[in-house]
Amino acid sequence: MSAFPARAVVDLAALSANVSVLADLAPGAAVMAVVKADGYGHGLVPSARAALAGGATWLGAAQIGEALALRAAGVGGRVLTWLYAPGAPLAAALEADVDVSVAAPWALEEILAAARVTGRTARLHVKVDTGLGRGGSTPRDLEDLIDLALAAQAEGLCEVVGIWSHLAWADAPDHPTVLAQAAVFDDAVALAERRGARLEVRHLANSAATLTNPAMHYDLVRPGIAVFGLSPVPRLGGPGDFGLVPVMRLEAELVLVKEVPAGHGVSYGHQYVTPRATVLGLIPLGYADGVPRHASGNGETWGGPVQVGGRRLGVAGRVCMDQVVLDLGPGARERAGDRAVLFGSGQDGEPTAEDWARAAGTISYEIVTRVGARVPRVHVGGAL
Ligand SMILES: *Cc1c(COP(=O)(O)O)cnc(C)c1O
Repeated sequence: MSAFPARAVVDLAALSANVSVLADLAPGAAVMAVVKADGYGHGLVPSARAALAGGATWLGAAQIGEALALRAAGVGGRVLTWLYAPGAPLAAALEADVDVSVAAPWALEEILAAARVTGRTARLHVKVDTGLGRGGSTPRDLEDLIDLALAAQAEGLCEVVGIWSHLAWADAPDHPTVLAQAAVFDDAVALAERRGARLEVRHLANSAATLTNPAMHYDLVRPGIAVFGLSPVPRLGGPGDFGLVPVMRLEAELVLVKEVPAGHGVSYGHQYVTPRATVLGLIPLGYADGVPRHASGNGETWGGPVQVGGRRLGVAGRVCMDQVVLDLGPGARERAGDRAVLFGSGQDGEPTAEDWARAAGTISYEIVTRVGARVPRVHVGGAL
């Protein structure tokens, strides 16, 4: 038990099982588990290992530092990284046997320089902006980029192993942009092959497309949020509808329980005032720990949901930096040290990260990735 009376319990067996569900849903494709952002807040290295145990053969790391941290911990599998600026440690990435994305000539030049210095052949995934309007080469610039890369491939400096892209509306599988992006993607693949690339993997699908759109699976799928058991498409279905189980449980011990009279203001600004004599309970987690301040109770509605003693309550008043308050109700029998669950799998009636997302007007991705660095991650159910 850590000195901090709260923790994020991470169920690695559930994570591995989620990955095998995803692998079964995409039988023709390999699985890249995306473990960026500290494994979506669940812990980078344990999440990566559990994903490999569940059948992933690739890992996705947005930043080079994340990819290097995986290798430094001895994590195997193929690793792809894609978000870096000029001057990035690309030589270290190649030394660590990491695949790199390329979307612009400057990036290709830096990768080739790193290949010369290290004597390593860089494995390149050329990223195409098929319509998201974010990363990737535009189709207009693609031909030159591919020709430059294939010229370097002829010199033995690199191998163009992948063409990849990312969808704007994957959470709405019938959205016309999905088909339009797939058509641009197919053109990019055809162009690369016409120019002489021998591609190992074409990849386009995030979690939403992995779960809902088999036509987007190609050779490799790149689920992130679904690996952690949350639904990327809450309007279409929750985790259970896809056979997924949420991996993280955020829980804390009550640090203070006390009786207060009716009319007692609660937390900053007294947004909540007790309507009757009652019992307040204090939870030692606040916005510094990732509890969204937008999930404060405003006096008319409760804030983010919390399970205590088998009942579901809502945050009373404002979420503070380190704490939130619950109105446990008149005659409540909880005591300091009793457990409160902010979110979990939902299988024991506790709220879920999706419930918190709804309370805060955001998405479950933000709820789990924002769990603060000072909240201990306790990994259970798997080999670390
Ligand atoms: C984050 C990310 C993913 C995973 O997205 P999810 O919606 O979490 O499945 C896949 N591909 C790229 C390029 C990403 O940045």
